[in-house]
Amino acid sequence: LALALTACGDDGSDKGSDSSGGSSSGGDVQGKIGVILPDTESSVRWESADRPALEAAFKDAGVDYQIENAEGDADRMTQIADSMIGNGVTVLAIVNLDSASGAAIEEKANAAGVATIDYDRLTLGGSAQYYVSFDNTKVGELQGQGLADCLGDKSANIIYLNGSPTDNNATLFADGAHSVLDKISNYNVVGEQAVPDWDNEQAATIFQQLYTAADGKVDGVLAANDGLGGAAIGVLDANGQAGKVPVTGQDATVEGLQNVLAGTQCMTVYKSAKEEAGALAEAAIALATGGEADTTGTVHDSDGNRDVPSILLDPKSITKDNVGDVIADGGQTYDDVCTGDY
Ligand code: BGC
Repeated sequence: LALALTACGDDGSDKGSDSSGGSSSGGDVQGKIGVILPDTESSVRWESADRPALEAAFKDAGVDYQIENAEGDADRMTQIADSMIGNGVTVLAIVNLDSASGAAIEEKANAAGVATIDYDRLTLGGSAQYYVSFDNTKVGELQGQGLADCLGDKSANIIYLNGSPTDNNATLFADGAHSVLDKISNYNVVGEQAVPDWDNEQAATIFQQLYTAADGKVDGVLAANDGLGGAAIGVLDANGQAGKVPVTGQDATVEGLQNVLAGTQCMTVYKSAKEEAGALAEAAIALATGGEADTTGTVHDSDGNRDVPSILLDPKSITKDNVGDVIADGGQTYDDVCTGDY
């Protein structure tokens, strides 16, 4: 198989890292960085990719850190933030669960003299000193273009399974995808819904409803991440349509990459955790030491009516042909991805 050569056929190098644990002390840079991840359910990325990448970045930089996970509970995130502020963090980075709770956390931190950073998700109406993420409109554009490449120019009915309505990124992903797909006059949107909290189980129920409402006449699925894509693939599979109806994704998770290799998923989007964590560490250290981070520009927060200094990284589209790039970059390991006969 040609695709075997590009990903699982070769004994590719195994550069992934596997680490756990919450904090470290004894760094040589002044200050301490606190990071609060959002949950363990909306995507495996937070614990499997971001946590180890953040630990590596902070250790490399010689800075003390504490990383916690709010487990999908905004009250819990608030409590963790309070305790981090009490523990003397100098910089607090959050992946908000919704903008209102995120903004309240940032306001309290800033009032206590703690600098804040939005990690991955912009907090609308927030007060973070920096926003570190990928170009999320581009993520959506890559998804839209990827689906269009899989569909070709035949006439096609498309269902959108969007991310959480409380996540500003989900809005940007959907906007980006629409900006590409809406231009193709042969395509028809036959269903579109946001999935609360990016919950994969709800995604399956929602997709089943949209699929039934469309009488099963569905030719393509714009799913906002690999978990939502997997939910759609499950429903398609139960209807004998998996692999016939292209589905998009995001995060280049093991499941997503395996679905891409198996042909049930058309593409995913790779966003290097190493790059994003590295950019966060740099911005955090700049804040802790009174310096300034290198930004790529600003992002306008219309709720807060301000331009947030931002570091936006470049996402990459992954299809069958370049799954090997994710492995070569250390985004996943060969052993984790190549468990089947792809
Ligand atoms: C992130 C995605 C992730 C999703 C669910 C978004 O804000 O950018 O990478 O899949 O949240 O956790």
